[in-house]
Amino acid sequence: MSGIFGVVSKKNCISTLYYGTDYHSHMGTAFGGIAYINESGTPVKKIRDISNSQFKSKFHVCSDKLSSGYGIGSISDKDPQPLAFKSRLGRYAICCSGMVTNKEELAAELIKRHCSFNEIENNSINTTELVANLINQKDNIIDGIVYMQECIKGSVSLLLLTPDGIYCARDKNGITPLVIGQSEDETAVASESCSFPNRGISIKKFMEPGEIAFIGKDGISTKKPGNKNCRICSFLWIYTGFPASSYENINVEAVRENCGRFLAKRDRIRPNLVAGVPDSGISHAIGYAIEAGIPYRRVLMKYTPGYGRSYTPLTQDKRDRIALMKLIADSEIINGNSIVLCEDSIVRGTQLKNYTISKLKDAGAKDIHVRSACPPIMFPCKYMLSTRTTKELIARQAIRHIEGKDISDISEYLDSSSEKYKKMVSWIAEHIGVSSLRYQLLDDTIAAIGLPKHRLCTYCWTGEEI
Ligand code: SF4
Repeated sequence: MSGIFGVVSKKNCISTLYYGTDYHSHMGTAFGGIAYINESGTPVKKIRDISNSQFKSKFHVCSDKLSSGYGIGSISDKDPQPLAFKSRLGRYAICCSGMVTNKEELAAELIKRHCSFNEIENNSINTTELVANLINQKDNIIDGIVYMQECIKGSVSLLLLTPDGIYCARDKNGITPLVIGQSEDETAVASESCSFPNRGISIKKFMEPGEIAFIGKDGISTKKPGNKNCRICSFLWIYTGFPASSYENINVEAVRENCGRFLAKRDRIRPNLVAGVPDSGISHAIGYAIEAGIPYRRVLMKYTPGYGRSYTPLTQDKRDRIALMKLIADSEIINGNSIVLCEDSIVRGTQLKNYTISKLKDAGAKDIHVRSACPPIMFPCKYMLSTRTTKELIARQAIRHIEGKDISDISEYLDSSSEKYKKMVSWIAEHIGVSSLRYQLLDDTIAAIGLPKHRLCTYCWTGEEI
């Protein structure tokens, strides 16, 4: 996953570029980068490894010394970016958010056409370099972006910085969001609208799927209108987005509270307190507590000083250790209580079982009822997130256990009224060691977001392709 940010300023854009990019730090943990236009009109890029430190600490020195009117930045999980090119379309820098699943086929085709790839990491083609090479196949940037959008499988939204301004393009299915905002002196574009308010920027428009816009000295111009076939990622609201952001004009925190309300409406239990697994489980828990009229209390505190949001160790062993150390259970609040514990989603269940439930039990919880803000995750994402495989999903592990083997037709397990679904949920509850477990129903998840189902991607819960 990646978050991207761009700004065109009547003055010096670097401070807004620095903070605006930094406000995407929850979207990636491997690389942070900026590109800007220097005094001679050339795009200059700077990329840093942020896997062991925060974006802020790697860029604050250089941001103090720079001056430029136009810039783009990104925080990524996989590919170093932005990248800068001197091409037949002129000089530009580019960064992307999304995922391309037919990368190897496209790269092979481009190599046949005499293109080369320089940014190889772990034997893998850099998505941003591939996207740039596709754009370079056409005679102008707009045609190149349209061509790229037609070729790729997955999703790519991008910012392309030229000496005259920034081209912004949202992916054709609208899976990844882009929003444009303005202040008196600056026009900005971002994956996350939470990057705007502290720079005095107000939301101007949410870009449409497939739309291409240009931000220059004279303001915003539409280069290609968008389409209405939006299939935005539902998971942005459930987990990946920042609470203060909005997509399609729908606020993340409000949706998470709605999720909690829907969970509470369908529940019969009367616990002493409601709690959330930090961070995103907290918003869901607040909604649950408001609806149920049961106090929300903090049973688990996240110790962030010294760790930093971006600190993601490379090995599973180290990640587990950090997860163990970061969350601290408060036995004063927990001891003797019956707890509803809201979680955004249950992917593998490992951290929930080993580092959350076990801590609550050790701290004296009487019983623990886990409530997931979305349905069981059944399919690894093939549009935006590359971090899951079918095998590791806990719902698939449950199915394998119940059936005694992997099965291809899991339709009964997708039906929340079926006996097989109930068996799967019971197995997961027992596996993670809780008194009860309930998942949000799909219809309630969609109602909590407030968009019609045909405008959302729900693939990871339903397997319905876009
Ligand atoms: S499969 Fe899931 S995570 Fe991926 S884009 Fe669709 S809703 Fe989002």
